[in-house]
Amino acid sequence: MRDLSLLTWSEVRDIDKTKSIVFVVLAPVEEHGKHLPLATDVIEGEYWCKCAMRKLEQELGTECFFLPSFPVASASVNEFYGSIHFSMKTTYEVTFAVLESICCMGFRNIAVIASHADPQHQIAVEKAVRKINKRNGLCVIAPMGQIFMGVSAERTPRLEEFEKEHGNDYHAGWIETSSMLDIDPCYVRDCYRDMPDSEITDKDMIFRKRQIAAMGEYGYIGAPKYASEELGKDLNDNCIASICDAVGKFYRRDGYKKYEHYPLYNILPLHIGFLSIAGKVRRKKVAGQ
Ligand SMILES: [Zn+2]
Repeated sequence: MRDLSLLTWSEVRDIDKTKSIVFVVLAPVEEHGKHLPLATDVIEGEYWCKCAMRKLEQELGTECFFLPSFPVASASVNEFYGSIHFSMKTTYEVTFAVLESICCMGFRNIAVIASHADPQHQIAVEKAVRKINKRNGLCVIAPMGQIFMGVSAERTPRLEEFEKEHGNDYHAGWIETSSMLDIDPCYVRDCYRDMPDSEITDKDMIFRKRQIAAMGEYGYIGAPKYASEELGKDLNDNCIASICDAVGKFYRRDGYKKYEHYPLYNILPLHIGFLSIAGKVRRKKVAGQ
């Protein structure tokens, strides 16, 4: 795998585009509790991509390329230090610009890894992908929306059991904390072991105020204290296998459709964020309180 941004323009020209896959990570810099770094989603996206690229190169005999990650994403909670969010319209426009640029170079296999599960983000990314594919013919897949919704490679029994027992782990809980422990324990502050559970029902997740109430003074929703490196390995392996399955099938243009569309894309009220007034990012002054 090669970093496309370290090549010269003439080296990019000479790549066999039909036998290549380009990976693009789009994820936010945002608060992840008192125990995980702001770049958690970016770090996860990059890790999953690198591992998937290695596997795909072996399996398909293709060459994979990546770009520096784009720390651009949409989300609704801006009540903490460190979060840098964009409107859905901006995320859509940035995604479109990045993808159109790569398409114009002649690449026909582009995988967008939007490693941030917020529906606002997934919908903004998918809107851009749909437009690109409509204009240029099929050349992009963004499988994370479907993978986050559970369309994935087989999970280990340990993971299935844990998910049943400790569901609704939406943000910086045991899922993300475990994933980061597996990537590199240095990223995780020890305090995760003593933090209380922060609970919310999936219905309440759509209400911003209830989300903020559940996050309390810590900034997570879920149960970080159950995190472990072993669970993290199961989670990361599952995610990497799912990305490989989606992108490998897309490369062959066979069997990829189950990863193609994010189901919440069809809920029209969720598109209100594309309107300039309704979609304005409500940034809150957090300093000096
Ligand atoms: Zn995250």
